[in-house]
Amino acid sequence: MLEYDDHIAVAVSGGKDSLTLLNLLVKLEKRFPKSKITAISVDEGIAAYRDEALELARKACDRLDVEHTIVSYRELFGITTDEIARMRLGQTPCAYCGVFRRKAINKAAAMVGATKIATAHNLDDEVQTVLLNMLHGDPLRIVRSGPVLRDPRGNFLTRIKPLCEIPEKEIVLYAYLTGLEFQSIACPHSADALRNDIRSFLNLMEQKHAGSKFTLNRTAERVRELLAAAAPTSQLNECENCGDPTPHRLCEACLMLHAIVA
Ligand code: SF4
Ligand code: ZN
Repeated sequence: MLEYDDHIAVAVSGGKDSLTLLNLLVKLEKRFPKSKITAISVDEGIAAYRDEALELARKACDRLDVEHTIVSYRELFGITTDEIARMRLGQTPCAYCGVFRRKAINKAAAMVGATKIATAHNLDDEVQTVLLNMLHGDPLRIVRSGPVLRDPRGNFLTRIKPLCEIPEKEIVLYAYLTGLEFQSIACPHSADALRNDIRSFLNLMEQKHAGSKFTLNRTAERVRELLAAAAPTSQLNECENCGDPTPHRLCEACLMLHAIVA
């Protein structure tokens, strides 16, 4: 995942996963004097939620002596997740928020001059997403996820998920044992009913058949290898609005922004 001289942009939300990742990478980085870490946080504009998380992220960065950059949806897109939620559009706020977050993290990482982006997805997140993609009838999305996302065309920074084989419970344990101060309240807009059902199902499977999550993750890795060989690499154009690479005329975030103001 990493090279000795990488400048890693670590996406830090202020939750247990991202603070654990930051802690671990800072420890590792000390052994590689040519490497660098910058924490990046995204302020989606969610009242009574994100401010606390950003404060916790700020404190952790101070303690670990890591540079911290915050970008906001307000400054990047002119709208916040709370405002989108109030508009009661066709999709859930998470549908917009997730797309905007990916773009915001890419922008922040490019701003700080990073060579890689590290996100804190854990084993539970990964296998939930595999099942979600299958239930949404979008198996090719499995190719576009996984522990390391490298763009062979060189248009996007490589994304890595160092915690993708660590069960969520172990991360909680690490966070408590090391005394990490993390945000524990849920986002007021999180209402992804399908993901919640999949989470319950996978936890039940794990309880009854230990190792189910690891097995599913391994299966996804094999499927990914087979699909990657079969799926053609798409041609990219420049988004007519923001210039970001996209297989279409507009990138997904700009398409969404157009739909919001229409
Ligand atoms: Fe955004 Fe949804 Fe996550 Fe809340 S739960 S921060 S709305 S993606
Ligand atoms: Zn765009």
